[in-house]
Amino acid sequence: MFSEELLKYDWDATTERINSKTAADVLRALNSPNPGIEGFMALISPAADPFLEQMAARSMALTRERFGKTISMYIPMYITNSCTNSCVYCGFNCHNKFKRVILTPAQIEDECKAIKELGPFENLLIVTGENPRVAGVEYLSQALKVCRPYFSNLSIEVMPMSAEDYARLVEDGLNGVVCFQETYNRKRYNVYHPAGQKANFEWRVNGFDRMGLAGVHKIGMGVLIGLEDWKTDVTMMARHLLYLRKKYWKTRFSVNFPRMRASASGYQPNVVMTDRELAKLTFAFRIFDHDVDISVSTRELPAFRNNICRLGATSMSAGSKTEPGGYHTYPQALEQFAVSDERTPAEVADAIRRAGQEVVWKDWDKVFDVR
Ligand code: SF4
Repeated sequence: MFSEELLKYDWDATTERINSKTAADVLRALNSPNPGIEGFMALISPAADPFLEQMAARSMALTRERFGKTISMYIPMYITNSCTNSCVYCGFNCHNKFKRVILTPAQIEDECKAIKELGPFENLLIVTGENPRVAGVEYLSQALKVCRPYFSNLSIEVMPMSAEDYARLVEDGLNGVVCFQETYNRKRYNVYHPAGQKANFEWRVNGFDRMGLAGVHKIGMGVLIGLEDWKTDVTMMARHLLYLRKKYWKTRFSVNFPRMRASASGYQPNVVMTDRELAKLTFAFRIFDHDVDISVSTRELPAFRNNICRLGATSMSAGSKTEPGGYHTYPQALEQFAVSDERTPAEVADAIRRAGQEVVWKDWDKVFDVR
């Protein structure tokens, strides 16, 4: 399990190693067909700042080689904000007093129909808070069955589960699982996740192994930018990805670099990542892993998304609501965080096309679900 592998890597030593990288290390990584983890550290280090143009060019070339000029579209559907965790940065944390919503199957179906009115989405990401008692595997199984006739590709972003539960949901038509580790800093993890199941670092970080063992087709990873030094956190995530790729070689992977947004928690980020740094990280990740899907959500502003869609990103959400029932049932419910890109899916798609990219709504068909 990855929690054991992670013990090999010291947080502070990794930070020091990144900060000691030189311009020569950056050039070596840029000119290498496979720069590896050392090259990745160079590309995200301060020494890489003067090389942003070269990094963008290399990232764009690699992305076109592997993915063509395409952006795959997806949309999230929040089906409950019920949560037993107390993540200090999240508006859904259990200490925040507001009305909790758990959508019924009929309401989930209404949300499916409302999303279909917004655009020809075929990739749906079902999102929940973490409350296994009232919105556990049974509830998710039911939700997948309701959504299946409307979408070709179903992913979930929910509490980490056992391998058996993931396998059961795969049988119900689940294609992908997204889970954010939030931070790989084991010592500081509980500062942000003091109680509830999410306080168990090992259970969360080993969830990716359980997804791999269960045969989940695509695994999505991410750290929350704003908690700890982002350079160290994404390096740990890159190590995690290398580990997973070796062990679960049939699985596809995606990464996401969510920057903390304003929420009802009122929490302020400890570290702020600039747009330039986010672009640098995107380029570095593409140069490090040519095949990984890099997803950019509506957390980011339109101007940033309009540029990154041709330089390294490969999937984007659009028209997102981050409150359960937000498309139809409860348009005024409390959102998990504020989105930055409020354009309609059609407006986002037009902007992507104007950037010279093809918009892909469907990249998976149910006939491939042979299990
Ligand atoms: S981040 Fe997720 S687990 Fe944590 S409080 Fe928010 S909804 Fe719950």
